[in-house]
Amino acid sequence: MSELPKTASVVIIGGGVMGASTAYHLACRGYKDILLLEREQFFGTGATGRCAGGIRYQFETEVNIRLSQKSLAMIESLEDEIGQAALVQKCGYLFALTREKDVEAFKRAVKLQRTLGIKTEWLTGDEVRRLAAPCNFPDVIAGSFNAEEGLADPNSIVMGYINAAKRLGATFLTNCSASSIDIDNNQVWRVNTTLGNVETKTVVNCCGPWSADLGNKIGVNTPVSPLRRQWLVTEALPELPEDFPFVIDFAQSLYFHREGNGLLSGMSNPNQIIGADQSIDTDWELKHIEAAVERMPLLSSTGITARQAGLYEMTPDAHPIIGPTPVTGYYLLTGFSGHGFMQGPICGKLMAEILIDGRATTVDVSKLDYQRFAEGRMIQEYNLV
Ligand SMILES: Cc1cc2nc3c(=O)[nH]c(=O)nc-3n(C[C@H](O)[C@H](O)[C@H](O)COP(=O)(O)OP(=O)(O)OC[C@H]3O[C@@H](n4cnc5c(N)ncnc54)[C@H](O)[C@@H]3O)c2cc1C
Repeated sequence: MSELPKTASVVIIGGGVMGASTAYHLACRGYKDILLLEREQFFGTGATGRCAGGIRYQFETEVNIRLSQKSLAMIESLEDEIGQAALVQKCGYLFALTREKDVEAFKRAVKLQRTLGIKTEWLTGDEVRRLAAPCNFPDVIAGSFNAEEGLADPNSIVMGYINAAKRLGATFLTNCSASSIDIDNNQVWRVNTTLGNVETKTVVNCCGPWSADLGNKIGVNTPVSPLRRQWLVTEALPELPEDFPFVIDFAQSLYFHREGNGLLSGMSNPNQIIGADQSIDTDWELKHIEAAVERMPLLSSTGITARQAGLYEMTPDAHPIIGPTPVTGYYLLTGFSGHGFMQGPICGKLMAEILIDGRATTVDVSKLDYQRFAEGRMIQEYNLV
């Protein structure tokens, strides 16, 4: 068990996918004395460990598509790079559209995806019904499908990066909560934790749904809010085709994908109130089950084997905040608004570029800066689930 060092060149706070990827990519670039702090007993038990594991290219904004392009390639080659497979399953993502306004928005998005080299297919209602069987979609007008998308394993990616970074000399501590950051003359100089204090000039906040707390204490108002989302897993469903895709009923934010021999299903509550409650909302679960059974009648005769609630880390424009803040040495890598697992690999690399080179070069994320909220430069993403 490592002890809290007295100094570190960088302190990364939060041991989910963002913190783990940042630590690894800094270590790869030769950064020394990297320290990552995680307040829980284990790494990856925040949003990352509670996520649905989906990886996709199908977004509406160019920056999200480009982040996915790079990140999914990194996920696929993870085993070659660090010796830990990400357990990718390319089942394909199928968006089923029942409203004209969604059809228009998705048509535009698919066109942009294709311009950027992503081969998403446009489907008729009948084609969606065929691909989504045994779902019941009488009202579907059209859809989009990409066979190269699917699922990966969050724990493998987090622990893969952590173990690889440890081999390169980075220090990781669990059961260590960062309580505050001291600044002097607008420059970070110390992180105070439950295990003592560590001097550093650089802090990267990777606290996911909880990332507003530390910044707010030093006057960096951080527009990231926790929003509960939940899913359940069913008993085995032998009737489910082997190649059943990740199906999303977009209008209802209702989704299904295979999970072992059963099915994982979630539905986003549009009236969910901001807050850090991670307990299962049983009233919402009943509504979700009703909607799920209507879409997939065979679910009426199966039981639930697992359920999970976690927190999205929402920003006002559903895009992350990546980079420096008005306090020198205090950086944010947070606010991924429901799709940060898949973007973790590339975003840790970009954060390393920002810290070492002064700007991210692998993907231009200059639009995802902290100042955009104050300066009215928000960018909206339509394709949120
Ligand atoms: C139900 C659900 C389904 C999702 N499905 C998908 C999906 O299919 N695909 C996808 O790409 N994304 C999905 N997401 C979103 C994704 O999980 C997140 O965007 C991503 O995991 C965020 O990673 P992170 O490292 O920023 O945060 P986290 O994984 O939450 O990590 C933050 C860590 O910081 C620690 N921490 C917080 N405060 C402190 C402190 N003061 N000191 C020390 N440690 C601290 C926490 O304990 C936590 O471990 C889903 C999320 C949820 C909740």
